[in-house]
Amino acid sequence: MGLLSTITEVFEASTQSTNRGDITQNESEGAYWCHDCQERIRDVDVEGEGPPGCPSCGDEMEFERSKGTASCAC
Ligand SMILES: [Zn+2]
Repeated sequence: MGLLSTITEVFEASTQSTNRGDITQNESEGAYWCHDCQERIRDVDVEGEGPPGCPSCGDEMEFERSKGTASCAC
């Protein structure tokens, strides 16, 4: 009887640990680009809301999602 509960505890512990590190590793969903200047700012580095201005020309930067992150593969 004691053995069964021990197995259950081990199983639950291993199930929780498998989810770690996958999502929290990088919260960046993409980056803002100015294609004219080749300037790039990651979304996690942008303060406040909305697209930032290009540090070189001042134009509004364009958001581009990073590939392979929660995107449809079909
Ligand atoms: Zn620019």
